[in-house]
Amino acid sequence: MADFPRSLIEFQRRFPDEAACAAYLAAARWPDGFRCPHCGHGKGWELATKAHTWECAGCGKQTSVTAGTVMHGSKLALTVWFWAAYLMATHSNGIAALQLQKQLGLGSYKAAWLLCAKLRRAMVAPDRAPLSGLVEIDETVIPFRRKADPPHGGRGRSTEAKMPVAAAVEVNNGRPGRLRLARVADFSAASLHAFVKANLEVGATAKTDGWAAYPGAPGVRHEPHVVGTMAAHIVLPWTHRVFANLKTWALGVYHGLRQKHLQAYLDEFVFRFNRRRSRHAAFQTLLGIAVAVKPANYNMLIQPDPTG
Ligand SMILES: [Zn+2]
Repeated sequence: MADFPRSLIEFQRRFPDEAACAAYLAAARWPDGFRCPHCGHGKGWELATKAHTWECAGCGKQTSVTAGTVMHGSKLALTVWFWAAYLMATHSNGIAALQLQKQLGLGSYKAAWLLCAKLRRAMVAPDRAPLSGLVEIDETVIPFRRKADPPHGGRGRSTEAKMPVAAAVEVNNGRPGRLRLARVADFSAASLHAFVKANLEVGATAKTDGWAAYPGAPGVRHEPHVVGTMAAHIVLPWTHRVFANLKTWALGVYHGLRQKHLQAYLDEFVFRFNRRRSRHAAFQTLLGIAVAVKPANYNMLIQPDPTG
């Protein structure tokens, strides 16, 4: 499981058909061999008559290898799901529905859009352990596109259409760790304190540009660096880089973000940033494999799991 395809060629070789994808799912679910989620029995067999489904030799109940994943009950082939998740997890800028439709040869834009939306849902609630240690905090405004605005900006775009966004980046030995981004109501002390409280561990050190709204944020040590705007990128290099990349990405991939979906886009950006060095984990998270595969604990071994 540890060796994850590092190229498209390797990926195609590893997952050429439905059987290969199903075998991967079975291995993720049962690393030590089949175990029935209903009765805990360790013997079963894969059904020849029902795709990707195992039958327990003890209780006779059937379990699909896709149960609990985003693929369950889908009419799309497993290979399509695998490709979509792989492209989404490994493209450094992500992939839009239209690209996905073309690259996977999907019948309609709507099918591609739904596929993207389902995979993206896994990005919205990522592992949320609060940030710790030294954390850069900064705020910016992101322009958004209204219905009437032309996709590439220009004269039709209103200069008022901007949304305030706050960012927090862990800094470990001068290198960026995990990121958080959130849409905030404004840059008031109340809004920014709420952002700090929701995203930083108690005892963390918040490094800011000295903006007056930050002091007094609960539970964190504040390290203000009062600077002119010219030097802010030197004091807070990582939040500044994140904001620059976020704005470029928003224009490049989505031709400007829609206000309604802003937090979902921010979550997608954060998801990709935080998993930039663990693409296998990103791939599994997108497909819902990690969620479906619960580690066996003592209770599960001695009594049937009622949720299956
Ligand atoms: Zn069973």
